[in-house]
Amino acid sequence: MYDFVVVGVGPAGARFARQAAAAGHDVLALEKGEVGTPLACSGHVSTDVWEYVPADAKETLLQNRIRGARFHVGGPDSRAYRFYRHEEVSNVIDRVELDRTLADAAREAGADVREGHTVTGIESHDDHVSVTASLAATATDEDRIQRTFQARLVAGADGPTSRIRRAAGLPEPGERLHGVLAFDDEPDDESFVDVHLTAPRFFAWRIPRGDAGVEYGLAASPDASVPALFEKLTRAYDVDTDRFCSGAIPIGPPERTTADRVFLLGDAAGQTKPFTGGGILYGMTAADIAADVIDPADPSTLSTYENAWREELGSDIRLGHLIRRAYSLPTPIQHAGLWALSGEIGVHMDRPTSLFSRAQLRSLFSRR
Ligand SMILES: Cc1cc2nc3c(=O)[nH]c(=O)nc-3n(C[C@H](O)[C@H](O)[C@H](O)COP(=O)(O)OP(=O)(O)OC[C@H]3O[C@@H](n4cnc5c(N)ncnc54)[C@H](O)[C@@H]3O)c2cc1C
Repeated sequence: MYDFVVVGVGPAGARFARQAAAAGHDVLALEKGEVGTPLACSGHVSTDVWEYVPADAKETLLQNRIRGARFHVGGPDSRAYRFYRHEEVSNVIDRVELDRTLADAAREAGADVREGHTVTGIESHDDHVSVTASLAATATDEDRIQRTFQARLVAGADGPTSRIRRAAGLPEPGERLHGVLAFDDEPDDESFVDVHLTAPRFFAWRIPRGDAGVEYGLAASPDASVPALFEKLTRAYDVDTDRFCSGAIPIGPPERTTADRVFLLGDAAGQTKPFTGGGILYGMTAADIAADVIDPADPSTLSTYENAWREELGSDIRLGHLIRRAYSLPTPIQHAGLWALSGEIGVHMDRPTSLFSRAQLRSLFSRR
């Protein structure tokens, strides 16, 4: 009997596995494929990410340092409104290597991390949960091996389309966006990203990734024609891209993220920033909270987790929804708002509530 079976070894699952194992619990973490693949993420994160990986990992993971964004209401030729700091605000990192690094850290802390294990079902009992996994096939589908593991508690860290969320009867996130991205190999170590408010209710982007080239991407609701919008973006930039990736982005956490002996982490719990779709830092923040407050011998501590992560991230998520509404304002109002707010900023990219911080107010009022 494991204390925890973690389903999914992305940033949220790997971080929880590491922290729970370090706290002395027996942890099994199951990943359906190979950790880190397939890629469906820009890996554009605040510098807080370095608090979650071993100190020597930065050298391998860091691709570029970013200190601001140019916002456009139209395409690449439209007017750019610059939001910046003099020092770096965020980093572009190798996302595949991030996942591998986090999984290795979990292993080193004592978690049993197994790849090629697709969880196909869970069954709750009075004092434990059975977790059934199908092992990667080496021969035909008929030969697939099934294994069942017993756990006191199960962490569903299996991403935006979480099977564990459905199996536990938990509600879906408010909305799911469709995100796509692809790369141009031309190296670019510029320190600004470009954001285009041209995708319906969201945005398109260009991210310089140092020697790893340039990434172009966008996200929008699935009913928008995302591939056609992407084609329009890259045509406007006059680039040919390759290594096309696509993934879902949950926006708006479900009303409940815990059930009998099951709890959700990361994208499965909708722990993302509604105004960017970024979820790496929020998922790992929630994972740390879960490892701190959940006692596998006492399932009633799941409600402590439910309250504690909402307390930590709830205000920023609520404000993030409000910021996102600005993406759908009429164009003249967007121009006026971007003009009024652009310039040097003191905002933390994961914490929109820092818009009201002394640093941000100081930079706003000292500008003009
Ligand atoms: C186009 C795009 C760009 C993005 N860019 C950024 C960005 O720049 N910055 C940022 O912070 N966030 C970004 N995100 C969001 C970010 O990728 C997610 O928030 C983050 O990956 C969530 O981590 P997670 O561990 O919760 O889930 P995931 O990273 O999705 O990990 C879930 C894991 O569970 C595994 N799994 C799923 N089902 C099963 C199963 N049945 N059994 C076993 N394993 C299973 C999956 O294989 C996967 O490895 C982007 C997303 C998209 C789509």
